[in-house]
Amino acid sequence: MFENLSERLSGVFDRLTKQGSLSEEDVKTALREVRVALLEADVSLPVARDFIKKVQDQATGQAVTKSVTPGQQVVKIVHDALVDTLRGEGDPGQLKIDSPPAPILMVGLQGSGKTTTTGKLAKRLKEKEGKKVLMASLDVYRPAAMDQLAVLGTQIGVDTLPIVPGQKPVDIAKRAKQQAVLGGYDVYMLDTAGRLQIDEVLMQEVEDVRDVVSPRETLLVVDGLTGQVAVEVAEEFDAKIGISGVVLTRMDGDGRGGAALSMRAVTGKPIRFVGLGEKMDAIETFEPDRIAGRILG
Ligand code: GDP
Repeated sequence: MFENLSERLSGVFDRLTKQGSLSEEDVKTALREVRVALLEADVSLPVARDFIKKVQDQATGQAVTKSVTPGQQVVKIVHDALVDTLRGEGDPGQLKIDSPPAPILMVGLQGSGKTTTTGKLAKRLKEKEGKKVLMASLDVYRPAAMDQLAVLGTQIGVDTLPIVPGQKPVDIAKRAKQQAVLGGYDVYMLDTAGRLQIDEVLMQEVEDVRDVVSPRETLLVVDGLTGQVAVEVAEEFDAKIGISGVVLTRMDGDGRGGAALSMRAVTGKPIRFVGLGEKMDAIETFEPDRIAGRILG
């Protein structure tokens, strides 16, 4: 489907004279191919442009090691720069859940995989860290979403807050907090309602919930296949709510994951986890190295 970047570059460099170091012209020619690869991987244009500029400065004048071709060398420089941009500070998989009960707010658009991810993370916290977790659905618009979380809870052996019809999201959040304190939970996760697109009512509702619980983590769940849309969603949620990280779902699909680079570059917020399927175990800590390889093809 996609042409591998190394293959592309080897073609380009065959046409260039082999010298001891990468000339400005070599690098420029090679980076034209890199730019195409980034855009094909769904990296947004301004982010691709900035990235290329950064790499160009780094690569020009670098000595070409004898053991690799200039094409391989450029791929390595690009790969390292991608990893550098994608990497956040600290361990992305380490959620801040000290001082129990620690609230985790899950936000995102409807269909992004928010409820599924809430279950996956709850299971992870329970099994890997031995935490006692409570999950609560604040989706008062879709009773099916509330039921979905309850079903997941039963499946993974994690408690869910009993459903009380007619309560507002803020009141459910307060009840979850109370229950978490009374029940001696380490963590309580709030699965907020999503809409098909961002709107004021949704944002206000999530803001109100945030103010009631002061979350230790606010994780934005975005569909990794939606490219530029995912970046806009991340920008808007971060501006209004303030997010502490991103979970990219559907990374088991065909997408090349360019959204990861754009999102990181635009919001500066770390990608914490990637969703790799519908099953409750299909989640991994974000690894910049792996996504960089995938973006480059
Ligand atoms: P929500 O509306 O944001 O809560 O989304 P859901 O959690 O209900 O997920 C919507 C659909 O996407 C469901 O069918 C999930 O099984 C599916 N889904 C969620 N995460 C992933 C993922 O990482 N990979 C794949 N292939 N499907 C996912």
